[in-house]
Amino acid sequence: MSVTTAPAVLDRDGLDALVTALVGQGRTVVGPTVRDGAIVLAELASADALPFGWGVELEAGRYRLVRREDGAAFAHSAGPQSWKTFLHPARERLWSADRTPEGHVSFTPEEPAAPDYAFLGVRPCDLRAVAIQDRVLTGGRYEDSGYGARRRRALLISVDCVEPGATCFCVSTGGGPAADPGYDLALTEVVDGDGHRFLVRVGSEEGARLLEAVPHRGADPATETTARASVDAARDRMGRSLPPVDLRALMGASLDAERWDDVAARCLTCGNCTMVCPTCFCVTTEEVTDLTGDHTERWQRWDSCFDLDFSYLHEGPVRSSGKARYRQWLTHKLSTWHDQFGTSGCVGCGRCIAWCPAGIDITEEVAALHTESETER
Ligand code: SF4
Ligand code: SF4
Repeated sequence: MSVTTAPAVLDRDGLDALVTALVGQGRTVVGPTVRDGAIVLAELASADALPFGWGVELEAGRYRLVRREDGAAFAHSAGPQSWKTFLHPARERLWSADRTPEGHVSFTPEEPAAPDYAFLGVRPCDLRAVAIQDRVLTGGRYEDSGYGARRRRALLISVDCVEPGATCFCVSTGGGPAADPGYDLALTEVVDGDGHRFLVRVGSEEGARLLEAVPHRGADPATETTARASVDAARDRMGRSLPPVDLRALMGASLDAERWDDVAARCLTCGNCTMVCPTCFCVTTEEVTDLTGDHTERWQRWDSCFDLDFSYLHEGPVRSSGKARYRQWLTHKLSTWHDQFGTSGCVGCGRCIAWCPAGIDITEEVAALHTESETER
């Protein structure tokens, strides 16, 4: 089979065929769809389930669906979930054990559930977040075997952003609304007088084979120009930004900043920010038994540095105040993450801003820390 690497164009029918082809290959296709008043990520049986004609309005502590006239499917920014929901699920059984009639204990390891995922509509910020979680969960001496199994089989179809949300700030974290390499296929949605279509870039052999299997045509200059202009315009319309300073150094020098008291007075330490963050990866394990005491299971579940138990050591938590826990989260995310993993832990998706019940805005907190550090000079 010949491999197509030049940009191509899929029409709406081509998008339908793409999802049908993926389902036909036995893949579990996951993408955005409208449910419960939000655009969530869920299994898609067909492209019809995509949120055609829906956009979102975002602000600190606020998320609303809005209707769009143009019928676009991907003109919305990050929703309440990220792809870690599927690659690094909130709960996962690691093993179980049973008492045998002879009084011994027999252990049964759990095979990780690893469907052949196809993720459709991965935002550029989320593509970077997946790369960060790859480094964290598979890049060290000990791999998270469940994550690794799912990740190696997953096919990623990214979508460039042409409609950034008011809480987005990917550009100031070193990213942007166009997908960096790491995708199998990258789409840019174009809706204009010439119709509804998707410019496609190929990022892998598997992506090329998939494109070959669906109706498509070579990219025409008008579609390429419109797609590029839309993404460039999105780059200039970011809703927010982080201060253009060395954040790693700023956070390191802000340990005793007064701003921590200010944010601690507002923070509920609910941990929502860590749950929605596409790069937060912390887990804990717990044992559960049945009522007979003959069967026990070990589960891994997401944990949060906002939880008091997270830093429990001997007779108490190391970070007992909300101030210490918020400072830990932000300092790790923007500073010490570099020491551990070689990058920042923030990709600027804005989820922690929109889904914080107290409307705490990471960009505002960092700007305040920067102002305080400048004032003290
Ligand atoms: S910053 Fe907001 S989301 Fe995060 S723990 Fe505090 S109140 Fe909850
Ligand atoms: S810290 Fe906030 S903006 Fe940054 S990646 Fe996490 S959720 Fe997104």
